[in-house]
Amino acid sequence: MSTMHEIHFDPIVLRFRSAFRLGAGRARPGLKALVQRLADGRPVVPAAALKGALRELAERLCPAVTGAPACRSPFDLCAQQPCPVCRLFGNPRWPGPLYFADFLPRQATTPATIAALRHLSATRAHVGLDRRLGTAVPGLLVQTETLPAGLEFVGAIDGQARADDVPLLQAALLSLNRLGAETTRGLGVCRVIAVEGRIGTEPWRWQASEQGQEGGVA
Ligand SMILES: [Zn+2]
Repeated sequence: MSTMHEIHFDPIVLRFRSAFRLGAGRARPGLKALVQRLADGRPVVPAAALKGALRELAERLCPAVTGAPACRSPFDLCAQQPCPVCRLFGNPRWPGPLYFADFLPRQATTPATIAALRHLSATRAHVGLDRRLGTAVPGLLVQTETLPAGLEFVGAIDGQARADDVPLLQAALLSLNRLGAETTRGLGVCRVIAVEGRIGTEPWRWQASEQGQEGGVA
């Protein structure tokens, strides 16, 4: 059994480079698909959306990073011994040891900026598709609310992880490049630009480079 480490990544800074939508529900005729917001109107990156995206990345990266295969959610999850991905993210039989917080807008610290974020969105109309046939429905427009590029969100991941699973969590976090709905339409391009935290007693600081392409370990 590998050593367990306390994991404390706080803050994690996430920046969207395209417009994006993180919300519940799909656009339907006569019903806008809305951005998910807190009661005060601030948009939020729900913890579940982030955790889901990180899990998907971890499944893909697992063999290269850990040398072990990963199961595939949602239909082929580990039934007996959990794989590294299930050890980090949990599955119905194995409670995850990490807590993922909702990510809140970094800029919203004053009543004025909170008020500004409440109204910050655009509505995109596009042709509705017949979901069964995959073809456009003539005369049908559906509306999607999106938030503009450039917003930054701050959140945290806390909990415990096996020492030999931590690199997989870090790799997934730093590989994040899409989040939310309609990424095939070009929405939701994002990346983690900075992390501060601890792994056990060791500090972990990461900052994206100026070019915005690569990061280095500080
Ligand atoms: Zn698994």
